[in-house]
Amino acid sequence: MPELPEVEALAAYLRERAVGHTVERFEVSSFSALKTYDPAPSAVAGLTITTAGRHGKFLDVGLGPDIHLVVHLARAGWLHYRDSFKSPAPLKPGSGPIAIRVRLDDGSGFDLTEAGTQKSLAAYLVRDPAEVPGVARLGPDALAVDRDEFAERIRGRNGQIKGVLTDQEVLAGIGNAYSDEILHVAKMSPFALTGKLTDEQLTTLFEATRQVETDAVTRSVGQKAAELKGEKRAGMRVHARTGLPCPVCGDTVREVSFADKSLQYCPTCQTGGKPLADRRMSKLIR
Ligand SMILES: [Zn+2]
Repeated sequence: MPELPEVEALAAYLRERAVGHTVERFEVSSFSALKTYDPAPSAVAGLTITTAGRHGKFLDVGLGPDIHLVVHLARAGWLHYRDSFKSPAPLKPGSGPIAIRVRLDDGSGFDLTEAGTQKSLAAYLVRDPAEVPGVARLGPDALAVDRDEFAERIRGRNGQIKGVLTDQEVLAGIGNAYSDEILHVAKMSPFALTGKLTDEQLTTLFEATRQVETDAVTRSVGQKAAELKGEKRAGMRVHARTGLPCPVCGDTVREVSFADKSLQYCPTCQTGGKPLADRRMSKLIR
């Protein structure tokens, strides 16, 4: 799933490539992906792209004076920028992985795509991004808080640190992958309880969060969208590296899996050498 760094990189790419261009056509192929009906998709044609940014993991493309295309890419969604489109023909509804196509006045544009059968990409055309329920509920951005606000928000939500760190209402932008990385850098168990963290541990966690997220933003911004996913994987220390050696201590990276996701950690660095039991993961499901 694209997280803060990848969405930031997509926004940066759009700022460079698409801002200033006018939308020639806004085509919706997957009507389940577009969650709003007013303003209508037809109202977007002729509007100029004015801004590109993000709210947590939501991408926000400003259109004309007062319309926003807000997108949550979910687990398997992505934005593919095209320098040109092979065919001028409109998209056929419900065909293939393309949910929405935005054609611009210079012949370029972008597709919002979603792989797989579980369709959860969500796009919204709104006049104010706060009209999107997921955006309205977001806590402050993970990179916008100082140490004290970070500590207050983490402590304010009692639970296992892995779950609290990825709760978008606590802090916006951190997902499953980078939370594994943050906890590895901070040398903390994913199951540590937030209520029991000392001031010093909260400072360590804050610094690890800033380090992991800003490093990932630096690596990602400037990459072509197509290369971003590979870049994300290459920069990981424990996430998605089950069975491989920890780059810090050489111990084997282990995994705890549940339902449809998993977390990775290093026992030596994070849990006093003790492997975690899988069943405890069920407590993370809210
Ligand atoms: Zn280690």
